[in-house]
Amino acid sequence: MANECVLVVDDSHQNVEFLKDYVLKPNGYQVLVARDGEAGLKLALNQHPDLILLDNNMPKMSGMEVLEALNEHQANIPVIMMTFHGSETLAVQSFRLGVKDYVLKPFQISEMLQSIERALAEARLRRERDLLTERLVKSNQQLEQRLKELNTLFGIGKSVTSLLDQDKLLSRLVEAAVYLINAEEGSLLLIDDKTNELYMVAARGIDERMARSFRLRVEDSLAGEVITSGQPLVLSGADLTKIKTSYLVRSVMYVPLRIKGRVSGVLSVDNRQQKRDFTNHDLRLLSALADYAAISVENAKLFNQAESERAKLATVLSEIAEPVVVMTGRDDRIIVANTAFRRAFGLGVVVAEGRPLSELVHNEALLELIASAPTTGDSHRREIPLADGRVFYAALTPIPEVGQAVIMQDITHFKELDRMKSDFVSTVSHDLRAPLTSVKSYAQMLEMAGDLNEQQNLFMNRIVKATDHIATLVTDLLDLSRIEAGLDLETTVVDLDRLASELVAELQEQAAGQRQQLIYRGPGRPAPVVGSQLRLKQVIGNLAGNALKYTPAEGQILVMVQFHDNLVLLKVEDNGLGIPPADLPFVFDKFYRVKTDDRADIQGTGLGLAICKSIIEKYGGSIWVESQYHQGSIFTFTLPLAAQSAFDQPQPNLVEVSA
Ligand code: ADP
Repeated sequence: MANECVLVVDDSHQNVEFLKDYVLKPNGYQVLVARDGEAGLKLALNQHPDLILLDNNMPKMSGMEVLEALNEHQANIPVIMMTFHGSETLAVQSFRLGVKDYVLKPFQISEMLQSIERALAEARLRRERDLLTERLVKSNQQLEQRLKELNTLFGIGKSVTSLLDQDKLLSRLVEAAVYLINAEEGSLLLIDDKTNELYMVAARGIDERMARSFRLRVEDSLAGEVITSGQPLVLSGADLTKIKTSYLVRSVMYVPLRIKGRVSGVLSVDNRQQKRDFTNHDLRLLSALADYAAISVENAKLFNQAESERAKLATVLSEIAEPVVVMTGRDDRIIVANTAFRRAFGLGVVVAEGRPLSELVHNEALLELIASAPTTGDSHRREIPLADGRVFYAALTPIPEVGQAVIMQDITHFKELDRMKSDFVSTVSHDLRAPLTSVKSYAQMLEMAGDLNEQQNLFMNRIVKATDHIATLVTDLLDLSRIEAGLDLETTVVDLDRLASELVAELQEQAAGQRQQLIYRGPGRPAPVVGSQLRLKQVIGNLAGNALKYTPAEGQILVMVQFHDNLVLLKVEDNGLGIPPADLPFVFDKFYRVKTDDRADIQGTGLGLAICKSIIEKYGGSIWVESQYHQGSIFTFTLPLAAQSAFDQPQPNLVEVSA
């Protein structure tokens, strides 16, 4: 192979020249020459040729002695022995000393060449093998190193996501940086936005006291430069001496910590003792660790923020005077219950969080409210009576991604006021009725006392009409207070079809008198609902009565009973005066009367529709109106359809419904 170097050690000028000119040079070998054994040995040890062609009989040192010396020095250079006087003992000896070949002088060019090639080929192979082994060992070491790095990074990555205690995590990070990069010291600096100084949050190899008190101004530090530029900094030896630092290190490397696109800290490693510069690979490792540190710092910040928000919210909740409980959606496990809630349901200091509400609270009304939980949309509301006599009004509200909350308001006082009002109305109405009856009776009895003139008759009629009006008003008020106070709870199954058709029949005479057409259209089969016969008749009577009242002559009134899913619908439709849109939302309010010219002469108390609403809602139904002013109105109420079987039972059939 070209450029391989062959050392010829021979005292024979002729032989040396022959080898040089005819064997070695023409075949591309470089040639070194020594004229005696001693010089040959020196050259061999200094130049380390690829092959030695060695004569045996030479001045100063024989070939055998050179061989021995080479072995002693573990030179490991292949040798071909050349000699005139071959003897078996010499051959055995030289082979024992490791020569590759033994060539007798004079030799043929080809013979010598072959021998050289063989020896070199063997040496080449050995060299190649050594090289490969060396490379393999090196790659193995590198692989082991990468594995170590990956394992460490993986471990750190896991710690970052498992939200370990932040101080501990950052210390581990710096420790990992020092370990992986094989540095002597490491530190993690974060910026204090208020003072624009860098402070140390974790360090390795640095005195702890110094680490804690460490403060660096951003403007005049290398770390600060990294903060400002956002670029890593790798410095060693000469670079460092050019920069005046108070920090005596041989090499140093800083990488920025980027949080939400802003550089907020610096991770660094350095060497004070060992003279080892940092490589690009080291920089990549440190950058990866800095990324982890950034995530961890950000996580901790978010966690602390969330924690303080949660604490704030918990304080607000616990300070609220109204009872509040927040639960999971699926199994009503308590997430938080405030002090007022605990007090209301006697939970004291019981650890309620995480336990199902039904395990701790035995208030039926509250449990029913929660059982009726809407999955989306509006909140459910109901009154919650407590064992101590207080009454709360509770709203159950779904909270997306959390569950649901119950917020309660103490309405005991309002309930008491309401009761007092009902009592008052009831007493007053009752006390009013008695004298009214007397006034009306005496007015009517005036005729008996003697003939009345025309004017007296007119006055007497006015008195009777006015007392009738007051009597109606008093009756309505009394009814309303009774219904609202829940005094007529007794209910039966009522056939709304029959009730409505009978009532329409009763009103036919009045309709005919007013030249109106009153029609009933039934469903063709019984329409059972639960309620009081008397009260339902009152509702249909009020609605049909209003239609007759607010529809001029020649008008038409249609009363209908229909089914809709599990509901019975009753509609009263007329083509009368209609209601102006502005009045529509209020017609069911107590004492609300529409004040338009077209109905100025029509008498009423403004309580009829309020009574209807109270009754229908008591029986679990709803009532509403659709109307076009000057065109007509449709009043509709619905009630739940009762089971047909209940209807077949002998009357009176009392069915209890909760009011
Ligand atoms: P009132 O005793 O005044 O009739 P209601 O409570 O029964 O009291 O009705 C409230 C108001 O609604 C009435 O003043 C009336 O103007 C209006 N109203 C009720 N029914 C009808 C109807 N069928 N057509 C037009 N207006 C109506």
